Amino acid sequence: MNAQLLKQLCTIVGKKNCSNSLETLHCYSYDSSKQTYLPDVVVLPDSTKQMIAILQLANKHSIPVVARGAGSGTTGGALPVRGGIVVSTSRMNKILEIDNENLIGIVEPGVITGEFQQQLKQHRLMYPPDPASLKFCTMGGNVAECAGGPSAVKYGVTKDSILGLEVVLANGDILNTGTRTEKGVVGYDLTRLFIGSEGTLGIITKIITRLQPLPECKETFLLQSDSLHKTTALVATILQQNIQPCTLEYMDKTATELVSGLLPEKIPETVQAMLIIEIDGNTKQVAAQCDQLQKLVETLPHCVLQRATNDEEIEKIWLARRSISPACFQLSASKTSEDVVVPRSRIPELVSFCEALSKKLDLTILTFGHAGDGNIHVNMMSHDDSPREQQKAMSAKTELFKKVLSMNGTLSGEHGIGLTKSDFIHMELDAVSIRVMQQLKMLFDPKNILNPGKIFPPDSP
Ligand SMILES: Cc1cc2nc3c(=O)[nH]c(=O)nc-3n(C[C@H](O)[C@H](O)[C@H](O)COP(=O)(O)OP(=O)(O)OC[C@H]3O[C@@H](n4cnc5c(N)ncnc54)[C@H](O)[C@@H]3O)c2cc1C
Repeated sequence: MNAQLLKQLCTIVGKKNCSNSLETLHCYSYDSSKQTYLPDVVVLPDSTKQMIAILQLANKHSIPVVARGAGSGTTGGALPVRGGIVVSTSRMNKILEIDNENLIGIVEPGVITGEFQQQLKQHRLMYPPDPASLKFCTMGGNVAECAGGPSAVKYGVTKDSILGLEVVLANGDILNTGTRTEKGVVGYDLTRLFIGSEGTLGIITKIITRLQPLPECKETFLLQSDSLHKTTALVATILQQNIQPCTLEYMDKTATELVSGLLPEKIPETVQAMLIIEIDGNTKQVAAQCDQLQKLVETLPHCVLQRATNDEEIEKIWLARRSISPACFQLSASKTSEDVVVPRSRIPELVSFCEALSKKLDLTILTFGHAGDGNIHVNMMSHDDSPREQQKAMSAKTELFKKVLSMNGTLSGEHGIGLTKSDFIHMELDAVSIRVMQQLKMLFDPKNILNPGKIFPPDSP
């Protein structure tokens, strides 16, 4: 990038919020995909006005712009694969409004999701989407990926909690989508178009969220089972019985062993799988549903159900659950992590397939995740980074995707396509779908400056 452009960027955001020092570039060169690409410059705007000026400049000179929240994305979405400008939203981190009467919250994109949720608690409100990364990921990143979490089984994913957005388009125009009302059908639903668009259509600068009253109470259970398959089959049974958990998370034996030290109690050797089940609502409903759950589990000799009795135990359970993904690196530094979704009733089949694949390819494969909505995290651990092991991991990924699609599933429930899955989208989307998506991309970003090299395969037009 030439000195003149750099100077102009520094003028827009202020000298201390614009850097091309090698140290800074490295800090913004990676995300949770563990790949690295150096940008040419990093800028930290603090307002929509600054964002507009950055995009106008970049568009004029056809410079790639990559929005970055916390860089916790697992598919390489925030990586500047073609260099250019990384725009960090870390200074756009204000909660702008909490409207108790209308159950609406408005935030800037750099707000940390967990911090927003903590603030809302003081108003007896909640914003349900709760990715395991909530302590560090941003609201902007969540919207751009349509993040999900354990509570999606009852409350839905990010798209179900967003009413509207302010977006700065590639040419610097501001686009306001959606409404501040529960309903609204004027024109096309552009809000949904931007949710999950992975920073390729525009940069989100304001988010209007739908809030919920904080439930009166919540009960947390840990179910231990000596049968992996019966446990995964139980997921569909629980939901069929009209028990409406707000969490139905599953972890297999390997995942459990990785984090067992964090759990409130020692887990017996015989345990093959666990479920975390939570039920929330008003006191009467919760008591009735807990009763129903306990009666159901009493009929299952392979299961033990324990109710958490205090906040400390609940925190330990969640710490363990949220630590699974990072703890995988104890097994190997080389991890391929997928977030496939299958119909709930077919989770046992998926888990069996992963066991067989693990044996066939001599690859440790562990499964855990949001079983309540069929979204299973399949983590494939290679022995090392050698070409042979990498080839094995690639074969495993391809076979997994084929199997998932043959089961009426989908390649990604919440992590998006980004860079790491762009070579695979044609497995799921037909040529017409890909063409229409690319036409939309062209319409919003004719010079392809916004997060180029993502979602679509590298050789696509
Ligand atoms: C330990 C761990 C656990 C995780 N658990 C979950 C989970 O349970 N559920 C889940 O869904 N994900 C999970 N993730 C993945 C990740 O946290 C989510 O994808 C999250 O939404 C990314 O947010 P971020 O702020 O880190 O975004 P980044 O990684 O910085 O960016 C992600 C994408 O969003 C785009 N983007 C960021 N901000 C904007 C903006 N303002 N406008 C437009 N585009 C933007 C980027 O360009 C990029 O394409 C986990 C990750 C880790 C490391």
